[in-house]
Amino acid sequence: MTGPPGKLLPLVAALLCGAVLAQAAQPADHSVTSAAPAVQTSTRAPLSIPVVRKPSPAGPSASQQPPRRSGRTSTSTKTSTTTAPDDWNLTKHGKVLYLTFDDGPQKEWTPKVLQVLAKHQAKATFFVLGREAAAHPDVVALTRAAGHRIGNHTWDHPKLTSLPEGKLRQEIGTGVKSKCFRPPFRDTNAHVEAIAASYHQRQVLWDVDTVDWSKPGTAKIERAILNGARPGAIILLHDGGGNRSETVAALDSALAKLTRQGYTYRALPC
Ligand SMILES: [Zn+2]
Repeated sequence: MTGPPGKLLPLVAALLCGAVLAQAAQPADHSVTSAAPAVQTSTRAPLSIPVVRKPSPAGPSASQQPPRRSGRTSTSTKTSTTTAPDDWNLTKHGKVLYLTFDDGPQKEWTPKVLQVLAKHQAKATFFVLGREAAAHPDVVALTRAAGHRIGNHTWDHPKLTSLPEGKLRQEIGTGVKSKCFRPPFRDTNAHVEAIAASYHQRQVLWDVDTVDWSKPGTAKIERAILNGARPGAIILLHDGGGNRSETVAALDSALAKLTRQGYTYRALPC
């Protein structure tokens, strides 16, 4: 094969040049657009999700950096200048569940949870500990790559309300960068919530506690998920903190049943 006839060369060059210019005109920042779906107004009252109001879009979290641990408090995430629709009206999507997993990432069990989620085409939110995320950045990357979202569960999982101001800020500020924050042990108050808000992180609790961390048996965890399922419910599970074989098994069987009931599973806009 030979190159194009000489006559075509200027045309080819012009086309290539145009393509390059067109590409250059694209916005470089891929993280500014909102992934918020167009929604209908809901006629249901939202579930009681204690949250900090924050006008922030649910942007795609692709290629967010793993947490840097240097002892300093991180600066806040950038804020949008536009007001996004309220993505936190979680009941508006119908039969959608918001599965959340705390205390990871963990090298053995987080990938198993990811496998089950993939099997059921489920997206979820992982509230990770800063210290674990720093130890297993590959698992965090795997989680993000699969389309899940990451939330901040502090650096070291302390009871926050008993901490002095500086330590409280350090625990929240050195956790992973996210739009969402979940206090360990549900130990929170207005002050903790305000500190999280100063890092542009919305406090997210849960509607259904499966108590899976206590290893009550696969059947009990599954029943807690099934009994708690309703449109928009946030369900608390754990991928970290020990052997999570019961959680993985319960998740698999519960999702099979819930999917047959018409449920789908989304990540929170963290
Ligand atoms: Zn926890």
